[in-house]
Amino acid sequence: MVGEGLAVDLADTELLAVSPKVDLLATEEGNEKFWELHAGQLPEGTRAPAAGATRRLRTAVRTLLDARVRGERPEPWAVEDVNAAAAAVPTSLRMDIAFSQEIRWHYDHGGDAALAAVARSAIELVTGPHASQLRRCAADDCSMLFVATNSRRQWCTPNLCGNRARVARHAARAKHD
Ligand SMILES: [Zn+2]
Repeated sequence: MVGEGLAVDLADTELLAVSPKVDLLATEEGNEKFWELHAGQLPEGTRAPAAGATRRLRTAVRTLLDARVRGERPEPWAVEDVNAAAAAVPTSLRMDIAFSQEIRWHYDHGGDAALAAVARSAIELVTGPHASQLRRCAADDCSMLFVATNSRRQWCTPNLCGNRARVARHAARAKHD
């Protein structure tokens, strides 16, 4: 649930390749947990958005990321939804005399900073230098997305999906022998 950046982590909260689908944000409790685990990546003082609003943004983010993985143009509504969520809390970039930078979040007009942070993360990912490293897990029954900073990475989790695939290959070979 944590580790691939806000946008990918949110997209991965719905397991789409299993039947029936599993939604980790189906309850307010699961939703609270997701935001709690990502508190360190959110603007200070951010409150968890409601589960319904989180799931709505997730649908747009997933659509956007899936299109990027497939090398296709995204659905315009997904682009609009993500842009709108990002724009709801504008940011500005500041620096200080130590040449360090800081992003300021401007809440003056309200808006949901947690959703804005996820939307910003999605925009930065699909338009940025890591976009070509975005992948979907090679296991047929796994819908997890990840950023393959190691170009040989095929699995969301080597010791789960990678292992299952190795075991399956081994079993198939044993059958043929
Ligand atoms: Zn996987």
